[in-house]
Amino acid sequence: MALLQNHIAVVTGAGSGIGRAIAIGYAREGARVVALDIDRDAAEETAALVTADGGGAAAFVLDVSRREDCNAIAKRIGEEVGQVSILVNNAGIVRRNGMLGEADAVVKDWEDVIGTNLTGVFNVTQAFLAPLRASKGRIVNIGSIQSFVHVRTPSSPAYTASKHGVLGFTRALAAELGKEGIRVNAIGPGFIATPLNAQARATNPELVKAFMDHTPLGRPGTAEDMVGPAIFLASDLSAYVTGAIVMADGGYRAV
Ligand code: NAP
Repeated sequence: MALLQNHIAVVTGAGSGIGRAIAIGYAREGARVVALDIDRDAAEETAALVTADGGGAAAFVLDVSRREDCNAIAKRIGEEVGQVSILVNNAGIVRRNGMLGEADAVVKDWEDVIGTNLTGVFNVTQAFLAPLRASKGRIVNIGSIQSFVHVRTPSSPAYTASKHGVLGFTRALAAELGKEGIRVNAIGPGFIATPLNAQARATNPELVKAFMDHTPLGRPGTAEDMVGPAIFLASDLSAYVTGAIVMADGGYRAV
């Protein structure tokens, strides 16, 4: 039997990169997928890709930083799609101003990045708590190498703080929700070639080299490389795993 048969999986930021790959991968394992993204067309494109692949999918526009919208979409999905049993908190943005950058730009980076990458994870999790409790569901949060360290490639303090926060939130939720039968884990991607870093890859070969020099597998990851860990953490294969982060970083954190 497919690993995610009879599940309904919500994926945020599913219109691109890692989220899109996970949505397609989950559908191949039998889940009905709900693609959420700030970009409606992108979410719908992901749903169309899933459908063309023989899977079941729905798409809705959602900005995860808007708490009321998260609550409204959770209600709508409950009515129109069914009881969600898997939540992937994937939506994220990156900014590259250091703390010594122009003050207004640094403040904007902080508000945008924390609002999406951390408060967004809180908002969506809270919005879907009722169906996740009822289904003894699974939550998969997308962390980073920067859940542990800062990388000077450059990256903003906001991004590093947000991803440290995602790991802390993962552990806190795992502790509180374990008795409810909900498992909460994270994935820690390394340097993954997606639209998120397309410009940096195109204009900054030293950045890519710095990462690859530190990556035992010696290549950037692909969005598809994240799918196996995401299936593992959402399925019964990981029935006794909670509060963990699975690094999918080509070995970056090992050296
Ligand atoms: P991506 O290709 O840019 O995809 C992210 C998606 O999320 C985009 O469709 C984006 O829309 C959407 N999004 C942005 N803000 C949103 C919001 N407020 N509400 C809903 N959707 C929103 O990036 P990715 O590389 O797949 O990244 C996915 C996750 O992996 C992020 O959490 C990221 O921090 C994490 N991650 C990535 C890497 C990497 O090397 N790529 C490494 C570690 C962790 P727009 O395109 O319109 O902004």
